[in-house]
Amino acid sequence: MFVRVALDHPLPTLFDYRCDISGAAVVGTLVSVPFGKRHVVGLVCEVTAHSDVPAERLRDVDQVCTACPPVSTHWLALAAFAADYYQRGLGEVALPGLPQALRDASRWSRLFAPEERYRLTAEGRTVLPDALPARATALRALAQALARADFLLAADARALHPKALATLDTWQTAGWVTLDVIDAATVPAAASLPNLPAPALPTLTDEQASAVAAIRDAHGFAPFLLHGVTGSGKTEVYLRALAAILAGKPDAQALVLVPEINLTPQFEAAFRARFAALDASAIVTLHSGLAEGERARNWFAAHTGRARIVLGTRLAVLASLPRLAIIVVDEEHDPAYKQQEGLRYSARDLAIYRAKQLGVPVVLGSATPSLESWWQADQGRYDRLTLSRRAVAEAALPSVRLIDLEDERRRGRASIEGLSGPLIAAMKARLERGEQSLVFLNRRGYAPQLACDACGWVAGCPRCSAYVVLHKPERALRCHHCGWESRIPRSCPECGNVDIAPLGRGTQRVEETLASAVPGARVLRIDADSTRRKGSAQALFSDVHAGEVDILVGTQMIAKGHDFQRVSLVGVLNADTALFSHDFRASERLFAQLMQVSGRAGRAGLPGEVLVQTRYPRHALYHALCRHDYVGFANATLAERRDAHLPPFVYQALLRAEGRTLEAALAFLQQAAAELARIPAAERVTVYDAVPLTIVKVMHVHRAQLLIESASRAALQATLRAWQPLLRVLKGVLRWNLEVDPLDI
Ligand code: ADP
Ligand code: ZN
Ligand code: ZN
Repeated sequence: MFVRVALDHPLPTLFDYRCDISGAAVVGTLVSVPFGKRHVVGLVCEVTAHSDVPAERLRDVDQVCTACPPVSTHWLALAAFAADYYQRGLGEVALPGLPQALRDASRWSRLFAPEERYRLTAEGRTVLPDALPARATALRALAQALARADFLLAADARALHPKALATLDTWQTAGWVTLDVIDAATVPAAASLPNLPAPALPTLTDEQASAVAAIRDAHGFAPFLLHGVTGSGKTEVYLRALAAILAGKPDAQALVLVPEINLTPQFEAAFRARFAALDASAIVTLHSGLAEGERARNWFAAHTGRARIVLGTRLAVLASLPRLAIIVVDEEHDPAYKQQEGLRYSARDLAIYRAKQLGVPVVLGSATPSLESWWQADQGRYDRLTLSRRAVAEAALPSVRLIDLEDERRRGRASIEGLSGPLIAAMKARLERGEQSLVFLNRRGYAPQLACDACGWVAGCPRCSAYVVLHKPERALRCHHCGWESRIPRSCPECGNVDIAPLGRGTQRVEETLASAVPGARVLRIDADSTRRKGSAQALFSDVHAGEVDILVGTQMIAKGHDFQRVSLVGVLNADTALFSHDFRASERLFAQLMQVSGRAGRAGLPGEVLVQTRYPRHALYHALCRHDYVGFANATLAERRDAHLPPFVYQALLRAEGRTLEAALAFLQQAAAELARIPAAERVTVYDAVPLTIVKVMHVHRAQLLIESASRAALQATLRAWQPLLRVLKGVLRWNLEVDPLDI
């Protein structure tokens, strides 16, 4: 017997091994195999009776992972699709798609501890609830949980009450419950528990109700674009649609994707509260913030079907979910769904593929859908569901006003360090009323540059072609591209001038300014620096919710998803920089960000106001923003894209090369372009000139890229497939990679 195994290796082939462990190595099983001098974990993709590899070169499988049941053929097909689409080997997709702990054969035996399970005895069933004092509510809840289902897992008992296991011990002694141990892989799917009082649900708005009905009644593959303004109650639509679908099928599973780890606790709480009739272990999260063991156990709960709802970030799109019945992608436009290293996949796009493969509904939700998805809906490929109003009747959309900085200056109105007079006055008014303000800018650190006025020196990174960012609290200069750090120099290293000064403003500097511009305000900064410690973001956000903060200043971390109840003012600083970017997606991204951050204002009935400081008050993007006009913005931008032959009207791929010199990187790309010209399918493909990246040098490595595009996805894919083997033999660079559907160009 032979097995053909996928390994995490750039060669797009399967590797043959002999496997005499009879019956064990079925398709989808993990195995440990010798590879060169090492032993690696691979995934069995085929089992065959003969191999073309000469017998003397065939080696034996070391070990078969029996603790983990095989992944389904559906899952293998998903990995194969992703591998083909993103131009990778199957193993390069399938193995990184598994939790790290599973890819270490030495941990297999300990990874999934057997589950302890309590069950009521006949005697327990008759005496238990009544034998308890009426006021012992925790004990009664435990007894009810036992009575509701066949069994109660120890972990779920502990989730009900911290001392539950001690109680269960005494009940066992009394002969009321039994305890046994079963294989984790055989724990059945968590069923919804009947006869629990349903939590009080809000009455759906008409728009929410028809969205829920459309999703619930869908048959087969049904992609929905849920376009709902901020605060329109998209989460409620997800919850109801899931409840309807999960209630209909006793073991069905749901996958809910969110763009950021910081949003998972908020979602998890909402889902646990709503699905209180499910055991705690039936709802799991999957994201990179989990410890390895926990991630493996959560993955395993999804894989065995025990978990009914999986909440996660982009990596969860590759979770093994044997009975997946619905997928939700919240904030589908978010660039965080795109993996930017390794396998550069779009979790949103894979979610669509997965739903199609399984014939199930998929809901893409956003207040500002990506133009790709909007265009799909325009063409009738996605079903558009619209929530045009906020769900809470008294929470109107905020009024958006522009503050013309040129005009302020001309009129000689005072501003403090980049904060205009009207914005400061508005924050003071909020402070007096006990409401919160939020200040958004897209730059962390104190100042983006440190410069010398006398000689023009600007502090740069010795390893990258980039300026370093001044971080004042840490007294450091830090490169945001490679992490290089140094102390702040006392004087200019070029001319000795001691009068070196920060240029521009980041979140730290604005935080400092706010403290003096709005006296008495409690200011809190939330950005990648202030939340570096694990769990600290959660603590900071709860301070905001608890009303312990008057002004919140931060980057896009504060813009997304959060339901801040007492924020009534949003101020936007230096958004203008993105208006004139070389990246054609910059304005789409800016508009989405500004709509998102505006959506934080006035959610709970306080009238909300958004003030945008700008030097370009006549720009069309700001006009659309003031009118909350996503549709107008999207249609106008799509028309521009069509005229300019840009995505979604063409399909693109990028070849990136990294060399010791820029010349080497460019030469490689020019050779690559010459090779491409020989491929027949490339007739329908346009190749652009090789160009250096904007930040050309990072960590002493020089980077350049070559853009290719085609109006035909098939022609582009065929070209890439034929191109790869030609690229593999080219020399002269340190690394290269291909990216399909790149987001940053
Ligand atoms: P979105 O994700 O669309 O921005 P949310 O899902 O955060 O909006 O909902 C905004 C607020 O409206 C939340 O506080 C939510 O509890 C509330 N909400 C949602 N649906 C309803 C409804 N039908 N009736 C009353 N309140 C609702
Ligand atoms: Zn100088
Ligand atoms: Zn650097």
